[in-house]
Amino acid sequence: MQSEFRQLPSIDKLLRDARVQDLAAVHSVGAVSNIARETVESVRRRIAAGEACPSFDELVDAVAENAALALTVSLRRVINATGVVIHTNLGRAPLSKEAVAAMSEVALGFSNLEFDLETGERGSRHEHVESLLTRVTGAEAGFAVNNNAAAVLLALMALARDKEVVLSRGQSVEIGGGFRIPDVMRQSGARLVEVGTTNKTYVADYEEAIGPNTSLLLRVHSSNFRISGFTHSVELAELVELGRRRGVAVLDDLGSGALLDTTKFGLAHEPMVQESVAAGVDLVCFSGDKLLGGPQAGLIVGKKALIERLKKYPLARALRIDKLSLAALQMTLLHYLDGDAIDKVPVWRMIQTPQEEVHRRAELWLSALDRTSLKAETIRGESTIGGGSLPGETLPTSLLAIQLDDTRAAGALAERLRTGSLAVVGRVERGKLLLDPRTVLPEDDVQLISALQEALW
Ligand SMILES: *Cc1c(COP(=O)(O)O)cnc(C)c1O
Repeated sequence: MQSEFRQLPSIDKLLRDARVQDLAAVHSVGAVSNIARETVESVRRRIAAGEACPSFDELVDAVAENAALALTVSLRRVINATGVVIHTNLGRAPLSKEAVAAMSEVALGFSNLEFDLETGERGSRHEHVESLLTRVTGAEAGFAVNNNAAAVLLALMALARDKEVVLSRGQSVEIGGGFRIPDVMRQSGARLVEVGTTNKTYVADYEEAIGPNTSLLLRVHSSNFRISGFTHSVELAELVELGRRRGVAVLDDLGSGALLDTTKFGLAHEPMVQESVAAGVDLVCFSGDKLLGGPQAGLIVGKKALIERLKKYPLARALRIDKLSLAALQMTLLHYLDGDAIDKVPVWRMIQTPQEEVHRRAELWLSALDRTSLKAETIRGESTIGGGSLPGETLPTSLLAIQLDDTRAAGALAERLRTGSLAVVGRVERGKLLLDPRTVLPEDDVQLISALQEALW
């Protein structure tokens, strides 16, 4: 083993190598020396574990490989061919071109983020979305924070710290990614009072739970699951009526929250923000990057007095939205006001694409493949909405299906597609690799086809 250690070159010798010098010219000597040191260190550990010392060339290869992994940006574009429109792991909603342009304009220079150009005095970042939000939703007031989890936490802390919040047992849910209502409640310092049962809750259950210490009636939209059968839940209007009568505010966590009616697209009804506002709910929270189709954000709309309390609550500063998201959010909301959200917001463009159109693109992808050596066809399938909206609901779609020998071979092709020069993510089912054009932006078709050809080569 000692002799193996002695074969290890010095860091200096590695740094004098021509390939390592090239790396140092692209990056920096400091960064590349650190990589070289880490590489030698890990080889030293492997030798101690009984392995042989690699050759000098292998060591240089390892340095180059480690540099390629470490000295690069890891967040990159992915083509989503999964058929899940709002894919949380793939970054949720893609933005409209106009929203991206608005972001870029604000990003490249300075902006009036917190500056009133009329008076030349300090302004508020909240003003940039308030008017748009109230016009779109019909609420008196509104503002944006970092994400919907932050919106819910802020509302609970500002309004119910050391007080009680009444919630139906059927809505004490986990949304995913560690967001569990009972945990968020504990974190906020509010005391959760669960009422009813998992499947049935009545107004009387809420009413009995209201005491001198009750500060909120909470409704949480059961975003990502459905209970059916012997169930009963309380209508929002009933909850609002009870809240009014007993002087307790109602907070509605809509999760996705739609601004357009999903039934127009052959889907079940996803609760709309406007409906909650019209029902008289005091505060409604929803996400910016689910069915709204905008940037990551948490939107809170409702009664002016409560919104003002939330804006002024100290935690609001820690949860505030950044200027780039704000720019994209403004433009996305404007698409709704202009009545062209269906055509401009990618999430809605994907949802409203008719199956014939998806099929035409699946055929186009198929025609680009060399089918002498490949079993491929287009088949009918289903796309889903995702992002914790409309669980179990599907849109009829057309898929490009590539038949492999078995599931392992299909998985290997899926991996080549994910790790190619442009990452494409599809899904594997029973020995088939399935790609759904619905969730691929039409302008990406050409690139998808070359990625596919590269992976099949
Ligand atoms: C998605 C969701 C959240 C969390 O929203 P983020 O924008 O991901 O922070 C909270 N509540 C419900 C009901 C949700 O569906």
